[in-house]
Amino acid sequence: MSGAAEGGVRAGVDIGGTGIRVVILEDRREIAAVTLPTSSFERFERHQRSMALARHIRALVPNDKTLMSLGIGASGPVDTVAGVIENPSTLPTFSAFPLVAQLSTHLQVPVRIDNDAVTAALGEFHLGAGIDSRRMLAVTLGTGVGVALLIGGQPLRTANGAHPEGGHIPVGHSDTPCYCGVSGCWETLASRTWLQTELARLAPGIAYEQHDLGFYRDLCQNDPRVARLFQQYGHQVGRGLGALMSLYGPDLTVLSGSAAQLFPLYEDAVQASLVRSKGFELSTRIVMSALGDGAGAIGAALLF
Ligand SMILES: [Zn+2]
Repeated sequence: MSGAAEGGVRAGVDIGGTGIRVVILEDRREIAAVTLPTSSFERFERHQRSMALARHIRALVPNDKTLMSLGIGASGPVDTVAGVIENPSTLPTFSAFPLVAQLSTHLQVPVRIDNDAVTAALGEFHLGAGIDSRRMLAVTLGTGVGVALLIGGQPLRTANGAHPEGGHIPVGHSDTPCYCGVSGCWETLASRTWLQTELARLAPGIAYEQHDLGFYRDLCQNDPRVARLFQQYGHQVGRGLGALMSLYGPDLTVLSGSAAQLFPLYEDAVQASLVRSKGFELSTRIVMSALGDGAGAIGAALLF
């Protein structure tokens, strides 16, 4: 990460299956942002999608500023060297073409890409909930489950340089096989998608995303089945967290994603599932994201 030249700004883009967030940072301060529906790019031919995205980015840069760099965070597997998203399952619109090279040509700036769990973690580490952490585990509970570990601010990589897909570890039994090839995968049991699906079964007609913590707290008090559902969800979140904490030994875990906003409703179940015998204790300091949905795009801008 480096500071921008005077008058220079950095762009960050977080590409998810539902939405694309674009931010402009001057120094480390957000000066402009927009969120676009990912589906709005489907109408373009594949080779025109990067051009359309470049137009949105350029439109956000103030007239008296110069764009210096672009960082991208994207959900699912990403080839950071080739600059290609390889996520046909949940991000087909931006997968399997040289997005980084094309954006670099269109914008005439250097472009880097990483997994969105990594960029969200970088955002929280530099400007959010993880500022005082030396070894930070970041877990995103959204459409899927994203995991990143930052050691002194640097992301842990696999032997071939890829981002470890820590959301895809087997933690239990499930009849629903995950698209990664595992059944009982943590993502299928701990994502917001699981919680939303099960809530819809118990309380049909409630639009999950239109309600906040207070609404669901009331719902838990009025309907013991909903309260039990959040407890079950907490145990399922805790199963995977416990495995990752055992391996990585983080000093802080930051939860983000839409299900993290409801963390107070299942925090006790998570903590109960993380209790270990003497000598096997886990470091269970867990906090909610400080930057919310903006962390991924801000962290992407900070790839430079
Ligand atoms: Zn999986």
